[in-house]
Formats: sequence, C-alpha cells, structure tokens
Amino acid sequence: MKEQKTAIVWFRQDLRLHDNEAIHDALKHGDDVLYMYVFDRRWFEEETKYGFRKTGVHRAKFIIESVHDLRQSLRAMGADLVVRVGLPEEEIYDVADQIKSSWVFCNRERTQEETEVQDDLEESLWRIGQELRYSRGKMLYYTSDLPFPVTHTPDVFTHFRKEVERYIQVRPPLPTPSDTIGARLDDLQVGTIPTLADLGYEEPEEEPRAALHFVGGESAVLERLSHYLWDTDAAKTYKETRNGLIGADYSTKFSAWLAQGCISPKRIYHELKKYEGERGSNKSTYWIFFELLWRDFFRLMAKKYGNTIFFKGGPKEDIDRSWRDDYKLLQKWIDGKTGVPFIDANMEEIRRTGFMSNRGRQNVASFLVKDLKVNWQMGAEYFESVLVDYDVASNWGNWNYVAGVGSDPRENRYFNILKQAYNYDPKGDYVKLWLPQLKALPPDLVHRPHVMGKDQQDKYGVHLGGNYPHPIMNAKKWKR
Ligand code: FAD
Repeated sequence: MKEQKTAIVWFRQDLRLHDNEAIHDALKHGDDVLYMYVFDRRWFEEETKYGFRKTGVHRAKFIIESVHDLRQSLRAMGADLVVRVGLPEEEIYDVADQIKSSWVFCNRERTQEETEVQDDLEESLWRIGQELRYSRGKMLYYTSDLPFPVTHTPDVFTHFRKEVERYIQVRPPLPTPSDTIGARLDDLQVGTIPTLADLGYEEPEEEPRAALHFVGGESAVLERLSHYLWDTDAAKTYKETRNGLIGADYSTKFSAWLAQGCISPKRIYHELKKYEGERGSNKSTYWIFFELLWRDFFRLMAKKYGNTIFFKGGPKEDIDRSWRDDYKLLQKWIDGKTGVPFIDANMEEIRRTGFMSNRGRQNVASFLVKDLKVNWQMGAEYFESVLVDYDVASNWGNWNYVAGVGSDPRENRYFNILKQAYNYDPKGDYVKLWLPQLKALPPDLVHRPHVMGKDQQDKYGVHLGGNYPHPIMNAKKWKR
C-alpha cells in the first residue's frame, strides 16, 4: 500500500485561504494537510533596541482575531488549525516530528528576524528527513516575472513603476480551495488561541474617534473590499480623498490586513479591474494600484539592500551627524506633547488606535527627523511597535525615505508642518478631534496656539505651559 504523505502548512503573515500558494502546494503534494499557526513569543514578549514592546496591543489584538477567523474558515471546510504559543522553529518541528509529515510549506520571508526563524526550522527538519518548501504571494508581482533581476530593481520608484507597468501583468489570484483534506489529528492537541491577557496585554480602551474599527481576518477584509468598491464607490474618489485625516473611507484602510496577509494584493488588484470593467476606471481607481506598487517597491528594496534598511545610514550609507538618540524629545513626540497641534493630534491618534493616515505619518516622521533631529531609527521602532498595520519593508522603507537615507535619491523633502496643517486640516477639525482642549480656537490659531498672548489664551481657555505645551522647537520659522 502507498505510504500516506502529510504536508504541513505553516501560516505566517499569510492568514488567508484565497490566493495562498502554500495551501495550493501542500494540497498538490500531500495526501492530507495539517494547518498550523504559532504565536511567536518573541513578538509579544521582547523589546526593540530602543525599548519598545515589539508588538503593541492593537496589532496583537488584530493578529488574534485573524487567527480566529482562519480557524473558523478551516473548520467550515472540515479541517482545523493547530495553534501554539512559542517559537515556530521549535513548535512546527515538534509537530512535524510527531505526525511524521513529509514537508512544511510556508510563505517565504526576506528580512532578518523572519529568515532566521525559517532557516532554523529548515535545518531541524533536515535532521528528520523533512523539507521546508517556500511559496510566494506577498506582492502584486512575482519576482520571477520582473523585467529585471531583484538586485537591479530601479532605485527610483518612478523608474520601477514604469518598467513593471510596461512589461508585466499581475497574475490572477489562486482560488480559495473549495474543500481541503485536513490531516487526522489523532492525539495531537489542536491548541487554544491565546487571549490578549494570555499574551500579557490589557484590553485596549474602545476609541470612538478611531478612523476605522479594525477587525482582523480574511472575512472582515473581504467585506471591507466590497464596501470600498461595490457598496460605496469610494474607490472612484480615492485620489481626491486619500490625503484625508478623519473617517473610514478617505483611504482604503487595507494596510493592516495586507500586513498580516488576510488579503493578497493580487486579489485587490483583480477586484479593482473587475470594478473598473463594470463601473468604469478613472485616476482614482488607478491610484489604488499605484499605491500598492509602493508596497512592492519597498519589499524589493528590502530584498535588494538587506539589513541596511535598518541601519542609521540606510542603503545610502549616509548618516546625518546631527541626529541624536534623544529620549526626552522622542518621548514628547510619542506623548503628543510637542506643542505643535498637527503633530500632537496625529501622535494621539496612533497611540490610541494603532493607526495614522499616510499624510499624518509623513508629517510626524519628517518632524521628528528634520525638526527635532532625533535619530529616525527611534521613530521607526516606535511605529514598529504601535502600528496595527506594521509591515517590515513598508515601515522601514518609508522611514528611510523620509530620513533621506533610502535608495531614491530625489527624496530629501522638508515638510513645513504649519503649511501642511493648513492644507490638509484647514479648519482644524482633525486637531480638535484629538486635542479637545483646543476646540475653542478659531481656524487662524488652531495650528499655531503659540502665537497667542495672555488675553487670547484666557479667551479660548488654552494656556500655554498649562493645558497645552509651548512648542519644543522654534515653530515661528514656519510661514503659512
Ligand atoms: P491607502 O492610501 O488606501 O493605500 C492602499 C494600500 O497601498 C495601502 O494599504 C498600502 O498597502 C499601500 N501603500 C500606500 N501608501 C504606501 C506607502 N507609502 N508605502 C508602502 N505601501 C503603501 N504602510 C504599511 O502598510 N505598514 C507600515 O508599517 C507603514 N509604515 C509607514 C511609516 C511611515 C513613516 C510612512 C510615511 C508610511 C508608512 N506606511 C506603512 C505607508 C502608508 O502610510 C500606509 O500604507 C497607509 O497609510 C495605510 O492606509 P490605507 O491602507 O488606507 O492606505
């Protein structure tokens, strides 16, 4: 009789059933398939170099929800999801050894911490005659389809975009398997999905001002996709609204789900194409694709430049000597106590919700690096901790870019924060949402309370050095 061969699918940041190459490969090779997820202890217990918890509460919650959703979907297909809390390279190995599987299939990661885990697992599997097989699916494009080798990826985004747009197509997403052959678990414990408390977190406070109440999982993001395209036609005005600051629909909000792989970029792309086919295309529908290209670009930069994206001098190896590891200034920035309302409001939003608009991110990052002259790596680590949508390549790539150490040589822009504030929040609605102590200020003063004399402070109930701080830098240098 032919020997039964079992394949393990190790889910990582690909928490979905649609367009999941690891699942497809496993179903192709294995007589049966065991699905597994490991909550990597290090993500929840360890700290970054500058002392931030590696994973903040909003992302931890999002991951837990995503894993619940995945288990539910697998169960609906007659399979299950084995869950462990520990080190993936040990937990997956133990299960592989126990059930005598033949292969482990997983999505390949490309940044250091992630590759160390997969390399360790691979070596252990070799010892018991098993194999780790890698699959793709993080990007719109497959690297094998690119018109250039990864190491020759153009350093300038526009060049990259033009080349890929001209020469290659986004492949269609792989279908969701209609049923699966779940391995018999016998005496293998299926495992309980940990709660936030199990991972050492307190439940975050409900925040009614949050742009969107993010719920992790493939089911939630497929609903969000449908909402943004078909239910509201928000995609049709994306280019005009994308620099917004308040509310759910000024941008897609796909980022957190993309980061955990609850949705594949190819799926978004092809749904967009379908939408354009039925309801028409315009600059806005194109622009969603354009932004997704940035995501691919930063991932390719991470592949091309490896660990240098984490170094102070970045891929450019160009350190600005004025950057300091100034914890005091950093803390004021984190706490939203810089005395610059547009910065403080954004920092308040991210601290309370784990999310901040792209416009906000550009501004707070520029402010930290170019005005406060704080080492950009500290800001990048804080974002790594707190963001619900943290993605290694996108986060570090964008910080490289803002700090001017990235590969794109054009980008050494300075943001005049006051000008930005008046452009994007002309009446101060956003600032007042997150800093209610400023709510009585008229538009003319809301972004620059520091110009008020004592009388005006009394009149509007805003007291500099009292319920709102003096600016921590020379804010008078900014002209509107
Ligand atoms: P939309 O505007 O709707 O864009 C659609 C999608 O395109 C996004 O979901 C995202 O996947 C992609 N995208 C858009 N802009 C960018 C960009 N500049 N770089 C890469 N991809 C982009 N994005 C992350 O996903 N994770 C991060 O950790 C992250 N860190 C950032 C740090 C800094 C300092 C800055 C300036 C930007 C960062 N971004 C990051 C990029 C961007 O701000 C977010 O992707 C975006 O705000 C998420 O909201 P959205 O999904 O509504 O985006």
